[in-house]
Amino acid sequence: DLAPYTWQLVKALKHGRALFTQPPMPIKCAGAPQKALYLSCDYWRKNGLQSQINTHFYSAGATLFGVADYVPALMVYMQKYAVELKFTHTLVAVDGPGKLATFKRTSPDGNTETVVEPFDLLHVVPPQIAPDFIRNSPLADKAGWVDVDPATLTHRQYANVHGLGDVTNTSNAKTMAAARKQAPVVAHNVLVALGRRRSLAIYDGYGSCPLTVERGKIVLAEFTYGGTLAPTFAPWFINGLKPSRLAWFLKERLLPPLYWHCMLKGHEWLAAPFKSDTEHEK
Ligand SMILES: Cc1cc2nc3c(=O)[nH]c(=O)nc-3n(C[C@H](O)[C@H](O)[C@H](O)COP(=O)(O)OP(=O)(O)OC[C@H]3O[C@@H](n4cnc5c(N)ncnc54)[C@H](O)[C@@H]3O)c2cc1C
Repeated sequence: DLAPYTWQLVKALKHGRALFTQPPMPIKCAGAPQKALYLSCDYWRKNGLQSQINTHFYSAGATLFGVADYVPALMVYMQKYAVELKFTHTLVAVDGPGKLATFKRTSPDGNTETVVEPFDLLHVVPPQIAPDFIRNSPLADKAGWVDVDPATLTHRQYANVHGLGDVTNTSNAKTMAAARKQAPVVAHNVLVALGRRRSLAIYDGYGSCPLTVERGKIVLAEFTYGGTLAPTFAPWFINGLKPSRLAWFLKERLLPPLYWHCMLKGHEWLAAPFKSDTEHEK
């Protein structure tokens, strides 16, 4: 319901200051806060409003995107849309009626100061935590996420517990694309725990973040643990480091049926897990 509301606000804004924010990691789909910014700017640009709207991006992080290889393509769009970038700024308070946003700015020496900015449109992405029933359970680590081995996704203390999805403490991008690759690993390792398979399956940290840099074009970020690039397609088909129409088509037309008819029904020929060594049926 908040996406249509955001779109309504974007279309209604004719001039003024538009502030987009990104909280500290971990968040769902590391690039999601920027997607709203790019699509809004694209709309304003195509409707001749760019010169009347000052767009600012306030990120709690120190860089535009965690995997450096994707930053150049994203910077091209930030410049094209004349976005003012502010890093190490964390949104801490909003005065809705007064239209004021308060940020905590952290300088390189670790000192912090408060910065108050007026806005006409504010896009807020909240800081994100696991649900209480996880945070307050013995399954959680100190930060509140389910404490699993990053490779096998088996709980570090309870060998008969396995975890996947955004709720775990693995360092992959929290994306559906990650959950898609994790599910077969967990399914296999549950069978290992039940004594019906032997070699453990391994998750490599794959995640994907399709950055919608303009309507009709996507920078398709795909990477594993440590930010190692992991493109699904050959660069002549979809080069993830460049904006691509094919990547938009993939996300808009191909991924929804793949999600509903394959992934959710457990038919996933393209997401077979790696095995720690040759598998032996018992
Ligand atoms: C704006 C946005 C854009 C995104 N874009 C992409 C993208 O392009 N590609 C991509 O791969 N991923 C994307 N993601 C990330 C993707 O949505 C998540 O990674 C994915 O949904 C994770 O699935 P999950 O099942 O682990 O968690 P969730 O989808 O969060 O599911 C957890 C569920 O648990 C429920 N729940 C919570 N507490 C309880 C309780 N006490 N009892 C019962 N149920 C409970 C919640 O209601 C929720 O339905 C995006 C996310 C956002 C927010």
